[in-house]
Amino acid sequence: MENCVFCQIIKGKIPTEFLYQDKEIAAFNDINPKAPVHILVVPKRHIEKLQDVSDNEESLLGKILLAVKKIAESQKIDKSGYRVVVNCGEGAGQVVPHLHFHLLAWPKSKRR
Ligand code: 5GP
Ligand code: ZN
Repeated sequence: MENCVFCQIIKGKIPTEFLYQDKEIAAFNDINPKAPVHILVVPKRHIEKLQDVSDNEESLLGKILLAVKKIAESQKIDKSGYRVVVNCGEGAGQVVPHLHFHLLAWPKSKRR
């Protein structure tokens, strides 16, 4: 997808530090964080929104959530806790039309 910002990031066209990557999934910091830890976990394939995931793609969705879990461990927010948010469509506040899971945390060590 030529004009999709997350596809550009995944293809390396926008320099970005990846916090996690495998064949199907990438994760990077949100450019405008709403929490001390705000990471976006995305499928590498362009899928606009959760509504567009087909019934036979349960393995991709499972892998994304397991990636979220691993990233939370590597970021050391697994014990203190974190929130996973998916805005599904414009009406729910989805601005970037490439499926993404927000991983948000407010660990005590990073609170002001
Ligand atoms: P949405 O509202 O679509 O669920 O969330 C989109 C998120 O993507 C927002 O939190 C926004 O800050 C983030 N975002 C938008 N453009 C970029 C970008 O170019 N790079 C990164 N890293 N995050 C972005
Ligand atoms: Zn895309």
